[in-house]
Amino acid sequence: MADEVEMFFFPFMGGGHQIPMIDIARLFASHGVKSTIVVAPNNALSFQRSIARDQDSGRPISIHPLDLPPGSKPPNSDMSATPFTDTSMLQEPLRLLLIARQPDCIVVDMFHRWSADVIDAVGVPRIVFNGNGCFSRYAQQLMRIYEPHEKVQSEYEPFEIPGLPDRIVMTRSQLPHFHKSQGGGKPRGRMWNSEDRSLGVVMNSFIDLEPAYVEGFKKEMAKKAWVVGPVSLCNRNVEDKAERGQQAAIDEQSCLSWLNAKETNSVLYVSFGSLARLTPKQLLEIAYGLEASGCSFIWAVGKIFKPSENGEGSREDWLPSGFEERLKESGKGLIIKGWAPQLLILEHPSVGGYMTHCGWNSTLEGVSAGVPMVTFPHSAEQFFNEKLITDVLRIGVQVGSMEWTSWNAEPGPPVGREKVEAAVRKVMDGGEEAAEMRRKAKDLGEKAKRAVEQGGSSYEDAEALIQELKSRKKV
Ligand code: UDP
Repeated sequence: MADEVEMFFFPFMGGGHQIPMIDIARLFASHGVKSTIVVAPNNALSFQRSIARDQDSGRPISIHPLDLPPGSKPPNSDMSATPFTDTSMLQEPLRLLLIARQPDCIVVDMFHRWSADVIDAVGVPRIVFNGNGCFSRYAQQLMRIYEPHEKVQSEYEPFEIPGLPDRIVMTRSQLPHFHKSQGGGKPRGRMWNSEDRSLGVVMNSFIDLEPAYVEGFKKEMAKKAWVVGPVSLCNRNVEDKAERGQQAAIDEQSCLSWLNAKETNSVLYVSFGSLARLTPKQLLEIAYGLEASGCSFIWAVGKIFKPSENGEGSREDWLPSGFEERLKESGKGLIIKGWAPQLLILEHPSVGGYMTHCGWNSTLEGVSAGVPMVTFPHSAEQFFNEKLITDVLRIGVQVGSMEWTSWNAEPGPPVGREKVEAAVRKVMDGGEEAAEMRRKAKDLGEKAKRAVEQGGSSYEDAEALIQELKSRKKV
């Protein structure tokens, strides 16, 4: 059909990038766009069932596995990829596919660093997805311009980021290495330049969450930006929520019946995302802190850093003695060793708080579920997301994390158990401050849902992008 819009989606591997891009493809298919997810041959396993369900319900969505050139190995698949996983073996198959199919646009993850030149040469309109929110993008841009971190005397002397609508105070110790390295303040490498040459960017956020920052980002940083989130809200049935990302390490029924037996808002969900590797020492402090808080919790223990071999440790090394037995007896805690069905857990009425590493997807998922948060950032732009949660939105309490760590480096000294306990109590104990945070969080959760419904800001921005692609067809 002449009027039919066809969009390609080219996700990067790894939890924080692949998961939202699949949701974005599903979201545009729900708007009637013919959506094709382009992947390496081994990369569709984790989401093909949800796509099959969409197809069964009549949505125009499909997966296109690329044929690799003979002899080349596919990239690390799915959740084990890192931000530097090389995907350049996909370059030629992608180029050939674009020439053959000429879609109306391709939405591409910025971590495919080589992709801009290839796509632009073929002449297919390119839209970039970088996985961040507008607050962190805008705040980091002002850091680049004003370099407030260059004017302090130590790693721990606080500085304020100039020019923001809210007062945001950070320390150098919380900044990503690339802000501090020589020339780090100056904009920006190949990955970012490719954004300037694109048709625009698609953002996983919504206007009511960060209105001033969406505006700042749109006006001052993006050529064009379509703000279409929270995209996780396109997962509407239990199967989609339970299987999102990868197979969960717990069956959904036992998880749900454990939660069903708890009172409303009484459970804290604890998770640090798909990539962070916590040290055994840090896990021990968290275990003691959680136990001392007296609060019920579900703790998804992901990867563990083993200092001696710079590898991953066993999940059993770090438990305080008798910890799991005590939890079983008291019924106070459920430990998930591996992947958790995060959306199902967060949306359960018994969950009343979320200890998070402040990855952008997790932040938005906590917001959408309407739960206040204990913020425990580690890496990437997570310290900026923390400030949004605690200092702008005021729906969270900082655990007191001070040290930014690269995803592949040994984390610094642990945050102590007293800090963990204190932050959990502040969010979960039901005092006046906690009640106010909970009220604000619930309100934002409602706004998130409205944003993606027909007539909501994100729904309309998705429509605006579709209209733009239609009008480009006509010229
Ligand atoms: N996630 C999940 N179960 C887990 C860990 C992570 O479903 O046990 C999902 C989570 O819901 C989110 C994504 O993985 O959608 C993590 O993305 P985020 O940006 O929060 O953090 P990253 O993993 O990139 O650090």
